[in-house]
Amino acid sequence: MNILAFFSHPDDVEFLCGGTLLKYKKAGHHIFIALTTSGNIGSNVLVGREKIAAVREQEQLEAAKFFDAKVRFLRYNDEGLVDSEQLRRDVINAIRWAQPDVIFTNSPEDRSTDHNVTATVVGRVLLSLVGKNVPSDEKPMTKFPTLFYCDTSAGIHFVPEVYVDITDEYEEKIKALQCHVSQISWMSEYEDQGFTDSCRIHNEFRGLQAGCKYAEAFAAFRLHGVMPDFKLLP
Ligand SMILES: [Zn+2]
Repeated sequence: MNILAFFSHPDDVEFLCGGTLLKYKKAGHHIFIALTTSGNIGSNVLVGREKIAAVREQEQLEAAKFFDAKVRFLRYNDEGLVDSEQLRRDVINAIRWAQPDVIFTNSPEDRSTDHNVTATVVGRVLLSLVGKNVPSDEKPMTKFPTLFYCDTSAGIHFVPEVYVDITDEYEEKIKALQCHVSQISWMSEYEDQGFTDSCRIHNEFRGLQAGCKYAEAFAAFRLHGVMPDFKLLP
């Protein structure tokens, strides 16, 4: 299968579904990553949007090696994402590029602007993926993928529907997350927990709910004719 992780910022992928992607990779599936923004205001140490984006894209490419993933950057401005015709076209292009069986994205319940808009637009374009008259540079899909929303930041407003036990993948997930070196200082701007500590607390809490040591939590997108296939989860 092809698995697409479609998120807002470098580090969202590893934080929110890194363990699940490692399970897919071990099973021989193909991983794709698409990011709407390159997180170009996510630093108070680096100076300038171009510099921040360049550093964070490189960090994302390093992290992607853990999943043998192909990466596509849409390069919208961080915290500036709005639903627009151009964004929808770029999102459709990116999904068609990956031809996914399963998509993971942020949650539309997330009050982070970029997380919210990315999640909303990925869901909104789903019916267009198979349309031959939808403008796109990539070829239309012939089937609808299953779309899973990932956890929100700190799990606020998110009600999990299904869990993936990532206990065996947890250590490797943290190594992938640690590729995002620039975010260690940035996250300390608004969290008392350390960058990897907040991830551990999150995955331990979802593990507590699910009955295992570490877990990632998901909820499925539903629309008439586009029902989720839970059996596709690893
Ligand atoms: Zn994010």
